[in-house]
Amino acid sequence: MAGISRAIRACAAASRRSLSASSAAAVPKDAAAAGVRAAAAAAVAGHKGRDREDGRRVQWVFLGCPGVGKGTYASRLSQLLDVPHIATGDLVRDALASPGPFSKQLAEIVNHGKLVSDEIIINLLSRRLEEGEEKGELGFILDGFPRTIRQAEILEGVTDIDLVINLKLREEALVAKCLGRRMCSQCGGNFNVASIDIEGENGGPRMYMPPLLPPPQCESKLITRPDDTEEVVKERLRVYHDLSEPVEEFYRARGKLLEFNLPGGIPESWPKLLRALNIEDPDNERSAAA
Ligand SMILES: [Zn+2]
Repeated sequence: MAGISRAIRACAAASRRSLSASSAAAVPKDAAAAGVRAAAAAAVAGHKGRDREDGRRVQWVFLGCPGVGKGTYASRLSQLLDVPHIATGDLVRDALASPGPFSKQLAEIVNHGKLVSDEIIINLLSRRLEEGEEKGELGFILDGFPRTIRQAEILEGVTDIDLVINLKLREEALVAKCLGRRMCSQCGGNFNVASIDIEGENGGPRMYMPPLLPPPQCESKLITRPDDTEEVVKERLRVYHDLSEPVEEFYRARGKLLEFNLPGGIPESWPKLLRALNIEDPDNERSAAA
C-alpha cells in the first residue's frame, strides 16, 4: 500500500511540475515517464478494490482516430474497472432526446450539419460528471474528448486526468477496416467484412484481423455508410491527425500520454493493452486458478 501511495504522490508531483512548465521541452523525460507509470499503478490499485487515498479510481481519456476501435476498448476497460464509459457522441444524443429548450437549440445546430461547439460539449460533460459524482461514481473513461487543444485546456480546468491512452493502428489496416464497415439496415448491428492480413513492418510480426461477419438473418440487409469511401476515409484521418497532434503533445508534456500500437484485432490487442496498463487480466487469473 505504501508503494502505491508513493506512486500516487510521485504522479501528483510529476503533473504539478508539468503544469508549471511553459513548454514541453522544459519537462524532463524521466519525470514524464514516471508520471505515466504512476498513473498506471494507481489504476491497478483501483482495479483490485483498493482505491486511491481520496477514494476514487481512474480518470482516463482514450484518444485514437476514427475506426481504431477506441469505443470498444474504452467500454471493455470501463466494465473491468467499474467506472462509466463516457462517449461525447452519446452525451449529444442523450441531450437531443431530452425535452426542453436546450435540446431544440442543439437540434438546430446538428440538423444544419454544424459542429457542436466546445462550450456546449464541455457543459454536457461537466453536467454528466457532476451527476456521476452525486450517484457515487468513482471515476470515468472519456471517449471522443478532448478532440482539440482548446477542449483539452478547458477540460484541465474542470477535472484531473490521470492518464491518456493513445490507440494507434497502421494506416493501411485502418483504411481497410473503415472500408469494410457494414451495418444491418434492420437491427442496426455493426459488422466488418474486411479480412486484414498484412506483412509486418521492419521484420515485425504480420498483422491479422479477421472479419466480424453478420449472422445469417442480417446478411442480405447490410448497408455501407455513404461516407466510407477511400477518399473520404483518408481525408477524415488527415483532419483527425491535424486536430489531435497538439492534443497528444499537450498530454505528452504533462507526462500523461501512453502510446499504444494495436498489434491486431481484439483477441491479440486486449491482453497486451491490459499489460501496458498494469492491469491483471481476469481471464488469465481464472485460467491460472483452474
Ligand atoms: Zn440485422
